[in-house]
Amino acid sequence: KKDPTLSIIVVGASGDLAKKKIFPALFALFYEDFLTENFTIFGYARTKLSDEELRNMISATLTCRVDQRENCADKMDQFLQRCFYHSGQYNSEDDFSKLDCKLKEKEAGRLPNRLFYLSIPPNIFVDVVRCVSHRASSESGWTRVIVEKPFGRDSDSSRELTRSFKQYLTEEQIFRIDHYLGKELVENLSVLRFSNLVFEPLWSRNYIRNVQLIFSEDFGTEGRGGYFDNYGIIRDIMQNHLLQILALFAMETPVSLDAEDIRNEKVKVLRSMRPLQLQDVVVGQYKGHSNGGKSYQGYTDDPTVPKNSLTPTFAAAALFIDNARWDGVPFLMKAGKALHTKRAEIRVQFRHVPGNLYKRIIGSDSDKATNELVLRVQPDEAIFLKINNKVPGLGMRLDRSDLNLFYSARYRGEIPDAYERLLLDAIEGERRLFIRSDELDAAWALFTPLLKALEEKKVAPELYPYGSRGPVGAHYLAAKHNVRWGDISGEYS
Ligand code: NAP
Repeated sequence: KKDPTLSIIVVGASGDLAKKKIFPALFALFYEDFLTENFTIFGYARTKLSDEELRNMISATLTCRVDQRENCADKMDQFLQRCFYHSGQYNSEDDFSKLDCKLKEKEAGRLPNRLFYLSIPPNIFVDVVRCVSHRASSESGWTRVIVEKPFGRDSDSSRELTRSFKQYLTEEQIFRIDHYLGKELVENLSVLRFSNLVFEPLWSRNYIRNVQLIFSEDFGTEGRGGYFDNYGIIRDIMQNHLLQILALFAMETPVSLDAEDIRNEKVKVLRSMRPLQLQDVVVGQYKGHSNGGKSYQGYTDDPTVPKNSLTPTFAAAALFIDNARWDGVPFLMKAGKALHTKRAEIRVQFRHVPGNLYKRIIGSDSDKATNELVLRVQPDEAIFLKINNKVPGLGMRLDRSDLNLFYSARYRGEIPDAYERLLLDAIEGERRLFIRSDELDAAWALFTPLLKALEEKKVAPELYPYGSRGPVGAHYLAAKHNVRWGDISGEYS
């Protein structure tokens, strides 16, 4: 039997995501010998480029990790020699036929497997999928297609997109990527919970008081608000990245680590959740602000954003899972742009110790007596557990301190980018970290009524200064559910 070949076709190769993430991730996989011997990479886009021009373009963004410095330049050269370019329209079956000829030439009669990465705007997804399926799919090997969000804007448009995809592809061929699922700490969430006796028994309403999923960026749209304005922070971050983490966090123990077993449990969690209502959220938008002689522009000052835009750049939401494990436990999400810090983290606040012996010493702020587990997804990956500890000395004073696992101190080498893991999984046909269509449907069902209400009622976002902690409303929302947002320093903000 002839060796299989692997062709990876990056559709939209001239774009930002391809340059910044996809080609560098493919190179890292090549460096680590994860790509089969017979692989070829094709860039496809309308821009006219020669093979050499594509190589020059991507070579500017390839890097070697600290632990990969040996032979770095040679390896890059070898990698670039496997990269080719084909220019064509996204809706032209003829252009895809020409691509197919070039692919066949490289495949040289061996078993052909083809992976298409759609790194293009969503309005042309279906055209490309049609052309791929009619003219450029593998005749005897597999054909898989990776798609990036956005998967629609609401339940109806998402279902329509899925329906269109399924005219040309089977569910097994569609790999919907959510790059948060490829992040090291998110992968570790299940390991931490299911392989440590000190955590798994505590994972329920009996011991967990609330869970917080926080995403913040310390910059705004900075002249690139066109795409964002049509979606807003709820669609861009909450409905996908944060909700995916929540589902992984809260799912029941899957039967096995198989993709379908895990995805079945995630869908069950999503379908047990209450759809969000207006009263469950606070929306915000950043406004211009001057600080230390520097001035920062507001969201609507961005020339690519309409002046009267009501699109939220910040949102906080309280979600509930109506099942036996999580009944009554608030899951709070917060996501925003142009905030004071850049981070993504999961915070688990535990209940008070009942009848705490040290109550009098701890004082009136009983929150201080609780434990908190923090998984910092980015930057500087870390896990810490906040515990109460005696301050050394003859007196009896308590201190809240951290048991820390800082990845940079514990593990040598850089952590692979999420795109590396996800590309490798797609190549290997591992679907665990990709979103199945029923999951996507359940995710949209939760957010669609809220998104419609916000738009129909033209809800004005609460303005917050660029670089601040976001709207005060987020604190009131948390307080309504008896929650205080945690802060990385161990202080409460
Ligand atoms: P991009 O640079 O705007 O577009 C990629 C390529 O698509 C462009 O180089 C262009 O190639 C073609 N294109 C752009 N607009 C088009 C249009 N209106 N009609 C036809 N072709 C068009 O996008 P990107 O930032 O690389 O992102 C790719 C996809 O991933 C998008 O769907 C985006 O939503 C998603 N995504 C991006 C990021 C990110 O970090 N950038 C993160 C998550 C998800 P030619 O003109 O050469 O054909």
